[in-house]
Amino acid sequence: MSNNHYAIIGGGINGLSVARQLLLDFPEAQVTLFEKETDVAMHQSSHNSGVVHAGLYYEPGGLKARLCRRGAELVQQYCLENNVAYDECGKVVVALAKEEEGRLDLIYQKSLANKVPDVRILRGEEIQDVEPNCIGTRALYSPRTAIVSYGDIAKKIAEEILQKGGKIVLGRKVSNLTEQNNKITVHFDDNDHYSGTFDRVVTCAGLQSDRLAANSGDIETPKIVPFFGQYYVIDENYKNHVKGLIYPVPDPNYPFLGVHFTKRIDGQMTIGPNAFISFGRENYSGKKFNFSDIYDFLTYKGFWKFSAKNMPAAMRELRTVLSQTNFVEEAAKYVPSLASVSVSPATRGIRAQAMESDGSLVDDFVIRKQGNITHIRNAPSPGATSSLAIAEYIVREVMSH
Ligand SMILES: Cc1cc2nc3c(=O)[nH]c(=O)nc-3n(C[C@H](O)[C@H](O)[C@H](O)COP(=O)(O)OP(=O)(O)OC[C@H]3O[C@@H](n4cnc5c(N)ncnc54)[C@H](O)[C@@H]3O)c2cc1C
Repeated sequence: MSNNHYAIIGGGINGLSVARQLLLDFPEAQVTLFEKETDVAMHQSSHNSGVVHAGLYYEPGGLKARLCRRGAELVQQYCLENNVAYDECGKVVVALAKEEEGRLDLIYQKSLANKVPDVRILRGEEIQDVEPNCIGTRALYSPRTAIVSYGDIAKKIAEEILQKGGKIVLGRKVSNLTEQNNKITVHFDDNDHYSGTFDRVVTCAGLQSDRLAANSGDIETPKIVPFFGQYYVIDENYKNHVKGLIYPVPDPNYPFLGVHFTKRIDGQMTIGPNAFISFGRENYSGKKFNFSDIYDFLTYKGFWKFSAKNMPAAMRELRTVLSQTNFVEEAAKYVPSLASVSVSPATRGIRAQAMESDGSLVDDFVIRKQGNITHIRNAPSPGATSSLAIAEYIVREVMSH
């Protein structure tokens, strides 16, 4: 594999990390990354909570559990070595009532199985030793959970790729890939194709991953169904009411982590994100409709099955979509001193969440090999935390088999 020609499709943090890993492991290789936007990391990789997850929630033995733990270590090391800001601000997951404590204990058990360092349970009165304004009956404390800017890390990795002799081709949307006699051709959306061919290709197309894979001959499902998450920035004068990260105990039927307080690496304090269906895969303003994206999920039987099963959770999320006051109320259950804080909307994020045709959301990362092409088909949160480990896994395990 050492002097092969590699193409990576998608310049988010995963595509960039794979390109970097190839150049690290095979310095003689030719690596070209194609990105459809005018810069790298313009989608999920720069529209997220910026949390370096420690690995609390994930099913022990699964890819998420393994790659999140390894990824968190690699992100910390990368930031240290490359002078990128990293703040180990810590996180509490808070139960507000006895009914939530059983679920909190299950997360604690998982975090122990995943060997998350230094996690412990706090009794109600101990929560304020960590977060002085937070209330709850019991909490899980992860002092090693950290925050970063994944957008900044992605840009740093892009610089490193260029320094190591890799190519980054911006503004080129790949429509599909074809493989013949072990050589892969990259086709663009304007009916053009790249002048050379490649020995191996890795697709890391985030919100478009199902389309690019299916157009290139891979299986149709799971499909990506986009869920947006709105954030609000809280009034500067109140930001010190929260020291780090405060999360609810997640609803086991709705695989998103719930509205949380997130300290940002630039010092801002945000609340969010909620999770609701997005009327466009890349529609950050929330004001426009992308009819082709809407058509795709409305004609997917999995979406209707998911909707039927998740109506109560969807209604709860809708309350926070329709009203800023409801949104703040939801968060203030954890920090009552912020009940009437003024907030301003921040950019949304849109999750690339894979959904099976039976309506189940795919929980683990999905990385599939199709001939000499490897597709990342599902890399939701903690996909940014795990990115450097996902890259190691793809280059050293998936591609080499
Ligand atoms: C609201 C929200 C909060 C999150 N919070 C966290 C968190 O706190 N911690 C964490 O670890 N993770 C978090 N995540 C998840 C994390 O952001 C993603 O897992 C990660 O960014 C995925 O990176 P990616 O490179 O796979 O995808 P992306 O960043 O979406 O990149 C995909 C790239 O592919 C390009 N592309 C797509 N199609 C084509 C094509 N046909 N041709 C060329 N280029 C193409 C796109 O333009 C894009 O640049 C969050 C996600 C969201 C949405």
